Amino acid sequence: MQSELSIVWIYPDLLSTYGDQGNVLVLEQRARARGIVTRTVHVRSSDPVPRDGHIYLIGGGEDRPQILGAERLRRDGGLHAAIERGAALLAVCAGYQIMGSVFGGEEGQPVPGIGLLDISSGRGERRSVGELAGEVDPALGLPMLTGFENHMGVTRLGPGVRPLSRTVVGTGNGDGTEGCYAGKVIGTYLHGPALARNPALADLLLSSIVGQLPPIDDSWYQRLRDERLAAVLPR
Ligand code: GLN
Repeated sequence: MQSELSIVWIYPDLLSTYGDQGNVLVLEQRARARGIVTRTVHVRSSDPVPRDGHIYLIGGGEDRPQILGAERLRRDGGLHAAIERGAALLAVCAGYQIMGSVFGGEEGQPVPGIGLLDISSGRGERRSVGELAGEVDPALGLPMLTGFENHMGVTRLGPGVRPLSRTVVGTGNGDGTEGCYAGKVIGTYLHGPALARNPALADLLLSSIVGQLPPIDDSWYQRLRDERLAAVLPR
């Protein structure tokens, strides 16, 4: 296990909608509950992305900050270097789209992504707003995903990634799936924030770096999940 777990929060000044910063807090809290010392670095878009972090997080945002964020990340190169070194990444919504080869700009124009995931996004016909629930890829062994989505984008998955879940409620990628993953890189449309609504996803990220984790008291998380899932799932 690492002596200190380094969490990197990318571009909070550009990309952090609907409480995405909560993902950082959940990772910190769940690591510390296991006795893991954490250090969090907030990387503003004017600063270089450190290459030696363990878990990277990037959030959602409006179209223009998304374009700016993609340009800066591409020019910086630090995130690519970190992933090549074995770091994990959770990318949400705008951040998720940025990880692909291309996404739709504010007029629907194609904007290059940074190519960390084999996906391509464009602008859909209408905005997808609301609760989402999805059955997670059985290979990951996680309970149902729950979250909130608000995006115009639709995302096509290439053969280099697997869908994170199959949607039961909501739009996600737009083809009956939601999000995707490849190795330690996870992309999702889910806000809420995603890790507060899905603590097992937080533990998946943590354990991809530090190994097996002992269980902790999840009763507050469970109450939130029960309440949100009961609100959307058919009885
Ligand atoms: N601008 C992107 C879209 O509408 C991402 C939105 C978001 O991050 N919530 O698809």
